[in-house]
Amino acid sequence: MVKNIKNEAKIKLRVDDTVIVNSGVDAGKKGKILKVLKADNKVVVQGVNVRTKHTKPRRQGEQGGIVKVESPIHVSKVNYYCDKCGKGVKLGVQVKDGKKIRVCRKCNTEIK
Ligand SMILES: [Zn+2]
Repeated sequence: MVKNIKNEAKIKLRVDDTVIVNSGVDAGKKGKILKVLKADNKVVVQGVNVRTKHTKPRRQGEQGGIVKVESPIHVSKVNYYCDKCGKGVKLGVQVKDGKKIRVCRKCNTEIK
């Protein structure tokens, strides 16, 4: 029997987290997470991986033009940006008062 092992690396990032891009053309860019795509292990980050879409006016009075849309990027390309550390960090999970919390692995600051 073949066991179907799904690679379920849990995404620790959440919407509204600030992340910094660590590779690719957007390396060094910071932005807020707009969307987390768990199934794809991808996130959509404000101002990162922006693609330009050309749109045609569909209805009367509507303007066609260029729309900028953020495309999802793989989570491995971003790191959580810790204000205290002033850089991209890895997140850890700790248990506090019976609840799982996310912490910065460098400075141990709890992340809300
Ligand atoms: Zn930190």
